[in-house]
Amino acid sequence: MSKKPKKLIDKKGRRLDSRKPNELRNIRIEVGILSNADGSAYIEQGKNKILAGVFGPKEMHPKHLSRPDRMVLRCRYHMAPFSVEERKSPAPSRREIELSKVIGEALEPSVFVEYYPRTGVDVFIEVLQADGGTRCASITAASLALADAGIPMRDLVVSCAAGKVDDTVVLDLMDTEDKLGAADVPVAVMPNSNAVTLLQMDGNLAPEEFEKAVNLAMEGCKRIYDLQKEALRTKYMAAKQEEEVKE
Ligand code: ADP
Repeated sequence: MSKKPKKLIDKKGRRLDSRKPNELRNIRIEVGILSNADGSAYIEQGKNKILAGVFGPKEMHPKHLSRPDRMVLRCRYHMAPFSVEERKSPAPSRREIELSKVIGEALEPSVFVEYYPRTGVDVFIEVLQADGGTRCASITAASLALADAGIPMRDLVVSCAAGKVDDTVVLDLMDTEDKLGAADVPVAVMPNSNAVTLLQMDGNLAPEEFEKAVNLAMEGCKRIYDLQKEALRTKYMAAKQEEEVKE
């Protein structure tokens, strides 16, 4: 692990990558980039590079896992061996198994699962490059992949973390801040109803710091939600133009 720098925030209040405390990393989102998945999305958030692909709704295999009254949403979060500095084993780690569960549970409330009894939807998330906050960026991309697959949804789910670095509450922690900072609070939300679908905390925060971090993360979510909608719009405008050229 890298040596702890003396200060994660300089005298001018700037972070290691010169962001202000309430600034997001650069984000680029693309929807519908895999032709062999039913729905897909790609996100870059800072140095994170993450792909999400969705299959379904389709008949559930194995059948005994299907539910008579609803669709089952299965999620697999996986980090590529080259996604971090030291080669990571391609076998699923405890962390990846846990994150698969947590991400699936964050996405599920947005889907009308009761519309497709006995079926399953599979969400595959591949982290190609990781730099902190991959669970949040994965949720943001996977929700778009579900929408791209045409699955009826109440809203998109968008996710962002805030946390504490030195003595400051900051937005969207990168890997060094995540590892060397005092706390990390990932939040996922359906912005239309303000329903929170994920809230975790790693580290220690005073109650007022926790509140500040949650509010900041929600603010970050709102900004990323606009980018999500823009990415969906771009995909459908391109599809519309293609149709018009064919006609
Ligand atoms: P999140 O990516 O959601 O913040 P964690 O807090 O568990 O989840 O991980 C923080 C960061 O630690 C990851 O984004 C990644 O950059 C790094 N990391 C995770 N697993 C490994 C690993 N096996 N080897 C090296 N770095 C890792």
